[in-house]
Amino acid sequence: MEILIDNIGELFDGHRIIRDTCIHIKEGRIESIGVRERADEVIDAEGKFVMPGFIDPHTHTVFAGSREFELEWKIEGKSYSEIAEMGGGILYTVKETRRASKEELVKQMEERLREMLSHGTTTVEIKSGYGLDRETEIKMLEAIQEVKRKTKMDVVPTFLAHAIPSGREAEEYTEEIISEIIPEVGKRKLAEFCDVFCEKGYFDVEQSRRILMKGREYGMLPKIHADEFSCIGCSRMAAEINAVSADHLLMAGEEEMKTLAGAGVVATLLPATPFVLNTSYPDARRMKEIGLTIALATDFNPNCYVANMQFIVQLACYKMGMMPLEALRAATINAAKAIKRDGEVGSIERGKKGDVLITNVASHKFIPYKIGVNMVRKVIKEGELVYSED
Ligand SMILES: [Zn+2]
Repeated sequence: MEILIDNIGELFDGHRIIRDTCIHIKEGRIESIGVRERADEVIDAEGKFVMPGFIDPHTHTVFAGSREFELEWKIEGKSYSEIAEMGGGILYTVKETRRASKEELVKQMEERLREMLSHGTTTVEIKSGYGLDRETEIKMLEAIQEVKRKTKMDVVPTFLAHAIPSGREAEEYTEEIISEIIPEVGKRKLAEFCDVFCEKGYFDVEQSRRILMKGREYGMLPKIHADEFSCIGCSRMAAEINAVSADHLLMAGEEEMKTLAGAGVVATLLPATPFVLNTSYPDARRMKEIGLTIALATDFNPNCYVANMQFIVQLACYKMGMMPLEALRAATINAAKAIKRDGEVGSIERGKKGDVLITNVASHKFIPYKIGVNMVRKVIKEGELVYSED
């Protein structure tokens, strides 16, 4: 099967802008750019802007229930602990997720992935982490594996040590993770990455290090939630153990940024989180000056219900001072680097997967500029039309 996406007004290939061109996809892979070859099917881009599928390298898409009932409490100014006392917060999600069957988790995840796909996301990372016990964490990872088989999107599974279950000690739960959960996840190959929430009141630096090193023993590459609410040395540890990415980094200072850059750790920024929490944004401009590779992600979770990477690009430009092209690179090729998929996806280059978005706007500058509507008209995944607006 060969398809030609013709009449492209402006193409962003993951790196730069090319005008008036076409893309030829053969057996699901990019064959050439700018060569008008014979094809079985021609898709007319109608002179519009075309780009690689978005890569969302940090989500918590597997959980049961939603938390829209907390919004009024949040607007009234209730604190996180007050909301938890009123029955909301992460413990509500943990309760619902423990209770849900694997089939129910799969069903809810599939709905969320359909929304992501229709807004242009073709590759998504999904973390476990709302089980906080062996049985539920495994159920969540099995649900991700099932969704991975069913969806057209590329799904990258991660085991996340997310929080300390209520009534238990951090040290004791860390031991359970290391001696029981990670070995099972590893032996059954349920996750490609191991992630940990390194923060005051969660896992400290040494517990996080032990979890990530154990994950690595079982072939899972390390990622980390670092420096979100405080800066206690998590990103420095991430650099020491050569983590693939350090995510959030709201509180990361000059030293942390330089250390991460020196170790080649990708900085994954999640601007929808400070948006919903009404807090400040990470210093993307300084990170860029220092030479950090910046990726963008939604952080999709019940407290931050954002499935649309276009909105993330908008926040990156308006709230973090990123330029439109920088933000688009961060949401495609750099996001692929954050999940070690940059050899396969994230840019439109010969040999890579034919994951292409046809938009209804004239140039890349509209993606951050035009807010609140879906600009993706058609989604092509490995050469197959998987979403069309009409
Ligand atoms: Zn997260």
